[in-house]
Amino acid sequence: MAKKRSSPAALRHVTSINDLSKDEVERLFREADGILETSADPHAPHRVARTGDGAKGFILGALFYEPSTRTRLSFETAMLRLGGATISSADPATSSAAKGESLADTVRVASNYADILVLRHPRDGAARLAAEYASVPVINGGDGAHEHPTQTLCDLYTLRRQQPRKFKDLNVAVSGDLKGSRTIHSFVYALARFGANIVLMPAKGMGLPDHVFERLRDEFNCEIASGRAAGGNVSAVDALYVTPNRPHQLSLIANTEIEVRDEADRIDVVYVTRFQKERWKEAKQEYPKIDRAFLKDKRYANTRILHPLPRVGELDTSLDEDERAVYFEQAAYGVVVRMALISLMLGVGEQSELARHDGGFGASKWPVYDRPPGTGLSCANPNCIVHDELERKHCRDKFHLVEGPKLRCVYCETDTHEFVAADTRSHRFHSTGKDTWESLTKALPSLIFYPTLDAAAAAGYSPRRRAV
Ligand SMILES: [Zn+2]
Repeated sequence: MAKKRSSPAALRHVTSINDLSKDEVERLFREADGILETSADPHAPHRVARTGDGAKGFILGALFYEPSTRTRLSFETAMLRLGGATISSADPATSSAAKGESLADTVRVASNYADILVLRHPRDGAARLAAEYASVPVINGGDGAHEHPTQTLCDLYTLRRQQPRKFKDLNVAVSGDLKGSRTIHSFVYALARFGANIVLMPAKGMGLPDHVFERLRDEFNCEIASGRAAGGNVSAVDALYVTPNRPHQLSLIANTEIEVRDEADRIDVVYVTRFQKERWKEAKQEYPKIDRAFLKDKRYANTRILHPLPRVGELDTSLDEDERAVYFEQAAYGVVVRMALISLMLGVGEQSELARHDGGFGASKWPVYDRPPGTGLSCANPNCIVHDELERKHCRDKFHLVEGPKLRCVYCETDTHEFVAADTRSHRFHSTGKDTWESLTKALPSLIFYPTLDAAAAAGYSPRRRAV
């Protein structure tokens, strides 16, 4: 007889910045403010220098499948400063994974040791899979190119502490590799959610990918204006403006384009990202460098420079003494933000605990398509956790059916636009060009999605005679 899996107790995971509501992010920042008020170093107010006892008796387990010393130390410090203890598996070469144990099994076992888990993994979507098997809260400490939510929280908190303006009044420039940097993608979604204006300053050939633009426009209510040069000494760089749609204002102001330009004449924040040379074939790739000469332009007079570190030359060290440079403060805030998150997830903070849900996640606004692996279409992203040989049997082919219609992988959030819907009742299919999101949603329980018409035909389905 099959052993019935007991239903997971209500808990709360954070695998993406979008798992947190705006209110919850604000609450987390209030918790962080409170920690700094009582425990900051009097000589360095962004640094926590006292150890409390809020998490006394709790253990944080850090499962690191790829080395990231800084992230691991930051989480461990956060837990120790809360009075808790930590256990770590930081050497993938000697960990259970090297002996062939799946992530799903490791997480189930580690849930018996620790009260909260942090996972770092090279595969996109690994944190979501871990959360599905854990019986304690899971925090994503970076999963492949997908998400690193505590970095994004740290970035937002730095803006909030270092710039007196409200998020909705900020003009934030993002500079460098906007194509491959997961930090940037999570950051721009979060900025859009909080209503900040985003000025894009990509390095040549490293612009924001189309799918990120598409999501900003369709799901984060952004308006995209293009075509102005960035100024400063980075003449080769184009700038785009992503302005949150504010319907009330738009109807009042006739010429919104002028308003956008006026706003961008003042840059409140420049967020610089590292050139990830491992991702580019051309070793001598042109890359914008932020230095004193760049910041001479008057619109940077009161700007704040952020960088997730480590830097590799895109940020001049002569800036370190400039009062506009706040990247070391930003790194220090990483500890307090992680302390606040752990506190709210364990329910030991001053602010009220994060809401708990059965299974660890709140209900999605999109319906979920869920089939056993190998039934039809699987995630298009080759680095997705569902394609890991060891993990495949623990995954499902699970997608959110997002308006468009498109299929968004539940694990890594990669979108698939082209797919064929086959109906198990009629044994017929037709391509999505003719299916609306509404019609697919209605028929979802009896649908199997295939990547191509040929794949659907090979599975025994025949073309539908007319569109429904
Ligand atoms: Zn995926």
